[in-house]
Amino acid sequence: MQIDLDPDLGRGYKNPSQRVKAITEGWGRENLYCVACDSDAVAAERPGRPVIDFTCKECSEHYQLKSRSYPFSGQVRDAAYRPLADAVVNGTVPNFLFLQYDPDAWRVENLQLVPRFFMSLSALAEQKPLGPSARRSGHVLCNILLSQLPFDARIYIVRQVRVENKEMVRAQWTRFAFLKGKEHELRGWTANVLAEVRQLGKSTFSLKEFYEASQDRLSALHPENEHVRDKMRQQLQVLRDHGIVEFLGKGRYRQVRWCPECGHDFVPDALPRNGSGHRRLACPECGAWLWE
Ligand SMILES: [Zn+2]
Ligand SMILES: [Zn+2]
Repeated sequence: MQIDLDPDLGRGYKNPSQRVKAITEGWGRENLYCVACDSDAVAAERPGRPVIDFTCKECSEHYQLKSRSYPFSGQVRDAAYRPLADAVVNGTVPNFLFLQYDPDAWRVENLQLVPRFFMSLSALAEQKPLGPSARRSGHVLCNILLSQLPFDARIYIVRQVRVENKEMVRAQWTRFAFLKGKEHELRGWTANVLAEVRQLGKSTFSLKEFYEASQDRLSALHPENEHVRDKMRQQLQVLRDHGIVEFLGKGRYRQVRWCPECGHDFVPDALPRNGSGHRRLACPECGAWLWE
């Protein structure tokens, strides 16, 4: 994978966002690979096809590419709410690729993949209809809430101009691919509970601690559910069944981490967070420093 973009592909476009789209999609045609199978290319869809930009001809996974020149974090503005929400509900939502480029050097700075099975309605925020002065008055847009996803759902393909190992990227996808077959509401619960577990920032924790830290936020995300504690326990079991947490007995749990450098499972030591709320973990197998 090369990280250089070709600005010449944007020639002839007056509209800046169309120009960037031509440049980044041209890059994608040459450089993107499928994360879900061993295909080393994905095919561009015809221009103007809503929601989907690339498709893998081997396994039919779909990808949507979003590009901008500043970092993707917090909330990301997407297109219309209804088509995306429908796609989540009926299981046709694509994988999202968030590409941040350097507009001076014309290169890819960061490229993150959010697997489609991490997308649920609780990761979407419906916006107010556009006001009467807007060109598309009454149109309802949507934000994707990246900050609500666990870090496991944001897989780096390029991180700070470094191209990540392709097999490790695919292994990160595979680790959570068990979510694929699940209905959107259940997938949403797993993602939300995992995000809360990660946010605890502790290698071991008790059920009581977990309720105290996370029950209110999860109730707010799922107001229709009156049995939030049952759901939290049930989802910890799902995470246990797939090797993401361990049960220690007596209501205690331990987080298992997966090293994207070497693929080794390990239990991290609790480390303090830095100023921006991130923790640094060291993989005991390969010594790689990981951020969460
Ligand atoms: Zn594929
Ligand atoms: Zn490692």
